[in-house]
Amino acid sequence: MTADAVVVGAGVVGLAVAEELARAGHRVVVLERDRVGETCAAAAAAGMLAPAAEADATPQVTTQLALESHRMYPDWVARLEDVSGTPVGFDRSGTLVVALDADDLRELVHLERAQQRFGLRTQRLSASEARALQPSLGPSVVGGLLLADDWQVDPRRLLEALRRCVERSGGRVVEGAPVEALRRQNGTWRVQVRGGEEAAARLVVVAAGAWSPSVLPPGVLRPPVRPVRGVVLRLGAGLEAGCVVRTPRVYVVPRSWGETVVGATVEERGWAREALAGGVYELLRESRRALPCVDEMPLREVAVGFRPAIRDNVPAVGPVDGEGTLFVATGHYRKGVELAPLTAVMVRQLVEGAGHPLAGCVDPRRFAEA
Ligand SMILES: Cc1cc2nc3c(=O)[nH]c(=O)nc-3n(C[C@H](O)[C@H](O)[C@H](O)COP(=O)(O)OP(=O)(O)OC[C@H]3O[C@@H](n4cnc5c(N)ncnc54)[C@H](O)[C@@H]3O)c2cc1C
Repeated sequence: MTADAVVVGAGVVGLAVAEELARAGHRVVVLERDRVGETCAAAAAAGMLAPAAEADATPQVTTQLALESHRMYPDWVARLEDVSGTPVGFDRSGTLVVALDADDLRELVHLERAQQRFGLRTQRLSASEARALQPSLGPSVVGGLLLADDWQVDPRRLLEALRRCVERSGGRVVEGAPVEALRRQNGTWRVQVRGGEEAAARLVVVAAGAWSPSVLPPGVLRPPVRPVRGVVLRLGAGLEAGCVVRTPRVYVVPRSWGETVVGATVEERGWAREALAGGVYELLRESRRALPCVDEMPLREVAVGFRPAIRDNVPAVGPVDGEGTLFVATGHYRKGVELAPLTAVMVRQLVEGAGHPLAGCVDPRRFAEA
């Protein structure tokens, strides 16, 4: 297999990068260890596009990146849907943050300020106004905040649309292709696949999420990415209205086709994949306080994913070798679905030598030993 660029990992970041490179005329091969959507984080993700959510706990630079990517989203998904013929569940009904007690109401004030600081629209609501927007809300709700600029997309459909777009642009997505080693020989990267054909390319982009460090060869920069586990529940019924419902402790994302996603835990447990009963209990307990109808919904799936996290909570996107032929695109932590379009354009522009105004913020060289 010979290509201009090999992308390692077909998560939302790897596929978005591959799609952007293929569309620009690069011959791209994506090597995915499992099947697309089988183990990647986006298969578990809720798909909230909420650039300033948790703004107080997020580095300002990550929020800036998210806002930039958010602006790109409507055109990006319109193109992906058009080319792939796959609807991706992009929904701009907004997000309703509800308060269940006086403490929650105080938190809404902070959230509102953060949103306004970033120029996003907010609207304070009484309990009855919130209920008029989302009739599924229960009697414990005492007030709310409507965030009209916080949207959602279905990450599983997005993965499928991206894969189709890569293929329609002439790229290849190879499943069951675990990359074991990268070797540089006479100006070309040799990409060794366990039990499969070796790939050769001038450029390699490692987008293997939390597994990225294990793919990088010795002697290059190695961003300190770690897995942060997240559990979401998939319930087999929708809500009465389409907007996302959040409390300070849980989010509930209704899909228009009669599914509801409840998330998410944030757990430092290494690579342990089994969801714990305590986490599932907390998600159900909190969601049914706001939305009692959750009680009557079939529990379809407990999904587990590993968010690729870096200690400064800023992604690492850019070259990690001296020659600019080996790139990483990882560390997107809780915002990888949101940040996918921006990351893709950034990688393409860096590869083509054009640079990107925000590239300095995510440069992996910040981890170079002094
Ligand atoms: C529960 C949960 C909820 C989330 N909710 C949101 C949300 O609402 N909004 C948002 O923006 N983000 C959300 N996220 C975060 C988002 O899902 C991640 O940031 C994003 O999916 C990371 O994508 P990635 O492509 O970098 O990595 P991954 O999704 O981990 O993909 C990496 C891929 O590389 C493959 N791979 C690994 N090693 C190899 C190898 N050696 N060879 C070949 N392939 C390899 C893996 O199989 C995998 O498919 C959530 C995450 C979780 C877990």
